[in-house]
Amino acid sequence: MGLFSKDMKTFDDLFVHTLRDIYYAENQILKALPTMIDKATDPTLKQGFEKHFKETQGQVQRLEKVFQLHGVEVSGVTCPAIDGIIEEAKEVADKNVLDAALIAASQAVEHYEITRYGTLVAWAELLGRKDCAALLRQNLEEEKATDEKLTSLAERSLNRKAA
Ligand code: FE
Ligand code: FE
Ligand code: FE
Repeated sequence: MGLFSKDMKTFDDLFVHTLRDIYYAENQILKALPTMIDKATDPTLKQGFEKHFKETQGQVQRLEKVFQLHGVEVSGVTCPAIDGIIEEAKEVADKNVLDAALIAASQAVEHYEITRYGTLVAWAELLGRKDCAALLRQNLEEEKATDEKLTSLAERSLNRKAA
């Protein structure tokens, strides 16, 4: 469903559409993460991906709860942005720079999620859905923490290579 389709008349429709966008995105991320876990060579990076895989499963459940609280059907709408980001992540990198490529690709994913959840938290509050906002904020915080961990991993390995 496109943003300008006539199915989207109200602010509430826009909120639900964006919820379905991130629901689709989280499910695509769940499909992509096992390959990233597999490919990562640095044990800390591998563990980080494993941890975020479990977190992502919990995020999907929180989103399902948000749909339920808001009284709408649990469903996804294709998000071309996450499809593109994941597609790009599949570009092959030499084993020397593989972890760096994986970190960069996953930070693109986290940043997409952060923009979506940031918007959704604000909109849930505007709609008077503090219950939904609280759940969405938990997802937002997990994405931010993951992004920060990826940054420090990237810096650590760059420093190691420079030494
Ligand atoms: Fe997520
Ligand atoms: Fe999207
Ligand atoms: Fe994430």
